[in-house]
Amino acid sequence: MSYTKRFDGRKFDEMRKTEAKIGVIKRADGSAMFKIGDTIAIAAVYGPRKLHPRFLQNPSKGILRCNYDMASFSVPDRKRPGPSRRSSEISLVTAKSLSPVLDLSKHPNAVIDLFIEITQANAGTRCAGITAASMALAHAGITMKDLVSSISVGKVSDKVVVDLDKEEEDHEEGATDIPIAYSPRTKDFTLLQLDGNVSKKELKEALEMSKKGCEEIYKLQVKTLKDHFKGEGK
Ligand code: UDP
Repeated sequence: MSYTKRFDGRKFDEMRKTEAKIGVIKRADGSAMFKIGDTIAIAAVYGPRKLHPRFLQNPSKGILRCNYDMASFSVPDRKRPGPSRRSSEISLVTAKSLSPVLDLSKHPNAVIDLFIEITQANAGTRCAGITAASMALAHAGITMKDLVSSISVGKVSDKVVVDLDKEEEDHEEGATDIPIAYSPRTKDFTLLQLDGNVSKKELKEALEMSKKGCEEIYKLQVKTLKDHFKGEGK
């Protein structure tokens, strides 16, 4: 059977409602919240600060150290607290998707600590985390070539769609999830993962959809940061 109407009534190329906020963790050097539908990510940045233990320091460049976590209460079936293979993988790909816009050579021997906490999860958490993280890095005053915007695209049954929710990811006829991170200014994809099957034509369609989605998210990121800094100047 064809997927003719999305479960929540959205158009196939329509993402869920988004919201963003800067400065949600006052003691951090930079922080941000990004919400897409029911998925909420909070990112906090500390540093650049001296990396310890010293033997890990690199005199030619600093490191971005990311820690992604999903709160136990973020999903209806309590998630086991603490790190997992999934959280390690997401931490790694998050750091990799953000590194291309940073110039870590500016921070020798240093670490930029990035913490991402998912307080509510309804799919697309790694993407929401990356979007929040890129705003938190900018808020912390880290020099960046661009922001990174992130969205998941994919296929539900036979349809290419943007921003799958959990119900769609669990579709009985199968779903393909393609988390994307994109730097709108340089037009580079900084993350592309694929869980499922797609044809070349469907992948092309999905990537075009993801660019459109990321550009929309980018506008919100820029506006939120600008509004925040304007408010601070008053
Ligand atoms: N999820 C869950 N428990 C877990 C891990 C994931 O209920 O321990 C749900 C959660 O809603 C999450 C979704 O499964 O957003 C999809 O997880 P996935 O690993 O595909 O990453 P995401 O789409 O969140 O980036």
